[in-house]
Amino acid sequence: MWAQVWAQAWAQAWPQVRAIGRKRADAGRVTVPEGDTLRRTAARLDLALRDGVLDRSDLRWPSAATVDLTGSTVLETRPYGKHLLTRVSDGRTLHTHLRMDGYWRVVRTGSSEAAARSPKVRAVLAAGPWTAVGHLLGMLDVVRSTDEVTLVGHLGPDVLDDDFLPDPEEPTPTLPPLAPTPVGIDDPGRRRWEGPGLEEALRRWDRQGGRPVAEVLLDQTVVAGLGTIWTAESLFARRVWPWTPAVEVDRPDLVLRAARAQMRRSVAAGEELARVHQRAGRPCPRCRTPLVEGSVGVLPTARPTTWCPVCQADPHHRPAPPVVHRWTGVAAAERRRH
Ligand SMILES: [Zn+2]
Repeated sequence: MWAQVWAQAWAQAWPQVRAIGRKRADAGRVTVPEGDTLRRTAARLDLALRDGVLDRSDLRWPSAATVDLTGSTVLETRPYGKHLLTRVSDGRTLHTHLRMDGYWRVVRTGSSEAAARSPKVRAVLAAGPWTAVGHLLGMLDVVRSTDEVTLVGHLGPDVLDDDFLPDPEEPTPTLPPLAPTPVGIDDPGRRRWEGPGLEEALRRWDRQGGRPVAEVLLDQTVVAGLGTIWTAESLFARRVWPWTPAVEVDRPDLVLRAARAQMRRSVAAGEELARVHQRAGRPCPRCRTPLVEGSVGVLPTARPTTWCPVCQADPHHRPAPPVVHRWTGVAAAERRRH
């Protein structure tokens, strides 16, 4: 009981001291961080470090072990798709990617957690009262900010970018605009396309031909930021069968808009508001038919998606591919036989 009270008091006193981009598990399965989580992570890192002078920089990564960022002022942490770009005043950028299990925590400088003794720690940045500790990061590089394009230049438009839509939308108070800075991916001279991100994403979509729509949404070079959660959710929202060939999708713009709207809501809410993701066997929120799971892509990158066989039925009655077990690579039907 008292532990609960203590936990509540702690949460109220130090709202910043919360796990960010933390590992989440549902029924034993890990949910990989997507663009919305990255956006929240960047906001927390900004809250803790932005405009602060780094008095600690500890990068536990072979290629960056000798890099020292102390003395530099943190300009901002910019999310792009599933990447984080922490820019500092000496013209360098710390690039990190959470991949499967990574997360950043912001803790009080001087606390035991700030000591970062865990072997899972890959990066520590501290500025005054706050220390940001990066656990199990999947990628880490330090580059000149003007070279950020070498890290994220292959990606399509970020679905959460301020200029993604060609038309104005309701501002969300909890979603501060990403102020453009004259370096890297925001440099107009380096911009890889003209106009709003949505239009560029649709141009890239047009080149996907017969590729299943779920695979296209997961492809970061078409549109950046979606993973399995928002792929499943946006297709459910638009009642699209996940294996519909890209060329057959009626209104790809509405699928991308649905993904963006759902992800913005998730950023604002501070948690994923998924309706079908990882809910196979449970009733569809619309029609009560049990949701089912299918596989998108081919091994070794096949990923599960959840869909409603009624709301998202294929008008041509094509069969969904068999479910492939992510870890063993054995089709579920095959496993049942043995
Ligand atoms: Zn349904």
